[in-house]
Amino acid sequence: MSTGRGAEGMRVLFAAPAHLWDAWSPALRAACPEMELCRDGDPAGFDALIYAPGYPENGQALDFTPFTRARVIQSLWAGVERIVTNPTLTQPLCRMVDPGLAQGMVEYCTGWALRTHLGMDRFAQDGAWRNRLTPPLAQGRGVTVLGMGELGRAVALALAGLGFRVAGWSQSGRPVPGIEVLAGDALPQALGRAEILICLLPDTAGTRNLLDAERLALLPPGATVINAGRGTLIDEAALLAALDRGRPGHAVLDVFRQEPLPPDHPFWRHPGVTVTPHVAAETRPASAAPVVAENLRRAMQGAPLLHLVDRVRGY
Ligand code: NAP
Repeated sequence: MSTGRGAEGMRVLFAAPAHLWDAWSPALRAACPEMELCRDGDPAGFDALIYAPGYPENGQALDFTPFTRARVIQSLWAGVERIVTNPTLTQPLCRMVDPGLAQGMVEYCTGWALRTHLGMDRFAQDGAWRNRLTPPLAQGRGVTVLGMGELGRAVALALAGLGFRVAGWSQSGRPVPGIEVLAGDALPQALGRAEILICLLPDTAGTRNLLDAERLALLPPGATVINAGRGTLIDEAALLAALDRGRPGHAVLDVFRQEPLPPDHPFWRHPGVTVTPHVAAETRPASAAPVVAENLRRAMQGAPLLHLVDRVRGY
């Protein structure tokens, strides 16, 4: 990481919804005091954009064409599916990789995995003494993490640290010390051992509808699916039908094809589904602003950018 200053005279557009300004601008200015952070201005005058989905707020896709001087578009989000396909985007795009984001995702996924593993939901304040079921210890429980990137790796390592029998699955099968990582074609094995399946895949052409009826049927009976990646991964109708058959037994869903999830969506009412409103991991200004500052300085110095998105792969 470069230290100190390096982005002197840099003009940066905060291309994010207005409600984010008050939380982000102090942290960004503190992390990179030498830049000039702006909310609007002549597009041709900006050296960089800090971008979040929902900008511009008129609902139209941002036209990157007039940003002729921009050396980097730094996303505040890890998932970039809403921007990577923008045909006007020719500038380098960097996604968010932030220790706070990873920690948040570890807490969300381990929290739900432990709740599932321990069967905590069977207890109720109803006078019944339910002490007949002893769950296995963590080493008796198979957990599979689909997607072994920045977030999947952190979650897999945390769960392995608690003793779970963790395997990962990714396109490349890139090794992670201490974790068995299965590659591409081994998806059936990855699913077949997953009493708890944690999904942390990006939204790309290769992941859409990956969990369809055929693949959901490979899960062990009663398995729990935790999807905190993107909603497009799962064929929703197939999941509802599979839940009705008890395979999987439960789904904890944080992400959906349509967000906010419409009030009349069957996920809200299905007893086998827990909905959380895309809150698994937030990008927090305190931990993410230094990451943004580092990339802005690299852009100004002509140094290699961190966390560049591969436009062909889409993540
Ligand atoms: P990342 O570092 O880019 O990792 C992506 C992982 O997915 C990699 O292991 C990659 O495989 C794998 N992958 C991609 N396409 C695949 C395919 N077709 N088949 C198999 N594996 C595939 O991403 P990340 O930072 O971990 O984030 C993952 C996703 O989490 C983001 O894209 C975002 O959508 C989501 N997210 C959600 C929240 C939330 O609050 N719910 C918050 C942040 C992020 P390789 O290792 O082989 O490249």
